[in-house]
Amino acid sequence: ESEPNWKSGELASKYQCLVCNSHLKFPIQFEDCGHHVCSVCLPDVMRITSRCPTCQQPLSRDRMVNDKILQKEIQSLKVSCSKTDKGCNWNGILSDFSDHTENCGFVIIDCTNECGIRCERRLIRKHQSDECAKRKVVCEFCKMSIVFEDEIPHLNTCPDFIVPCPNQCSNQEFKRGQMQHHLDHECSKQLLSCPFVDCGCEHRSERSLISKHIKESPGLHLNLAGKTIAVQNKLIQAFDERLNEQKKWIEVLAKKVNALEKTYGAQYIWKIDHYQEHLQEARSNKKTTLFSPPFLTSRHGYRLALAICLDGDGKGAR
Ligand SMILES: [Zn+2]
Ligand SMILES: [Zn+2]
Ligand SMILES: [Zn+2]
Ligand SMILES: [Zn+2]
Ligand SMILES: [Zn+2]
Ligand SMILES: [Zn+2]
Ligand SMILES: [Zn+2]
Repeated sequence: ESEPNWKSGELASKYQCLVCNSHLKFPIQFEDCGHHVCSVCLPDVMRITSRCPTCQQPLSRDRMVNDKILQKEIQSLKVSCSKTDKGCNWNGILSDFSDHTENCGFVIIDCTNECGIRCERRLIRKHQSDECAKRKVVCEFCKMSIVFEDEIPHLNTCPDFIVPCPNQCSNQEFKRGQMQHHLDHECSKQLLSCPFVDCGCEHRSERSLISKHIKESPGLHLNLAGKTIAVQNKLIQAFDERLNEQKKWIEVLAKKVNALEKTYGAQYIWKIDHYQEHLQEARSNKKTTLFSPPFLTSRHGYRLALAICLDGDGKGAR
């Protein structure tokens, strides 16, 4: 906070604090020597020297008092604004000075838009309405509110910004957002392929010339269309033939499957792994009987397992 201008010229030394070099605020008086420091400056004094900054007398905490009379006296000193030289003509007493500073038009403040500019309070409104890079402006095309410094990038994408047709079809101008529709459906100068492109016509021209192109060579286009239909008919035929062949194949295969099922019925094949080892075990009577994994005779049939004695069993034993 800046100091005011004292009406008396210099501030009398009895009103000064030697610690903060400003006028005394809520002064504390040392009872032994009668000198003062501010309340907020006292802790520093006690911590650093514990001596009166004016006369170097040692201090003790129980020998000091709040000097309320001096506080009142200082607060009623006549002052003028610290910005008198800049043009402020405020006069008053010290106790009103901080309120004045809050409103003084000549005090320098930061722009509240956080643009980084500092200027006198009385100029801030003009700055914020005319110059501030962060001021709000309205896009004249889409009426959206934008920050001034974003205006150029916005205009490069604004859907309502007016642009001429890239094909220069006329002097007409369009909103950017409607340009694609214009090019796709209206623009007489947009380059298009002949609608017979799938039949093989490679002609490309401006939209306005396409119907002329077709009218000029109806024979060519009918011919192309006819050929295309013929080719496609052949393809469909070939496709039908392959489909029929495959149907026949499926019938043949179905018959074969049927025949096989009748000939063999259900079969169970048990492949014995490590047959030689099992045979050795059976011969040496270590493990005479081998069981198959369980199986079903049919989907809802019996659940069975086979047993085999590789070296014979009972009377059949070798
Ligand atoms: Zn002080
Ligand atoms: Zn002293
Ligand atoms: Zn002022
Ligand atoms: Zn600003
Ligand atoms: Zn806009
Ligand atoms: Zn156009
Ligand atoms: Zn064509």
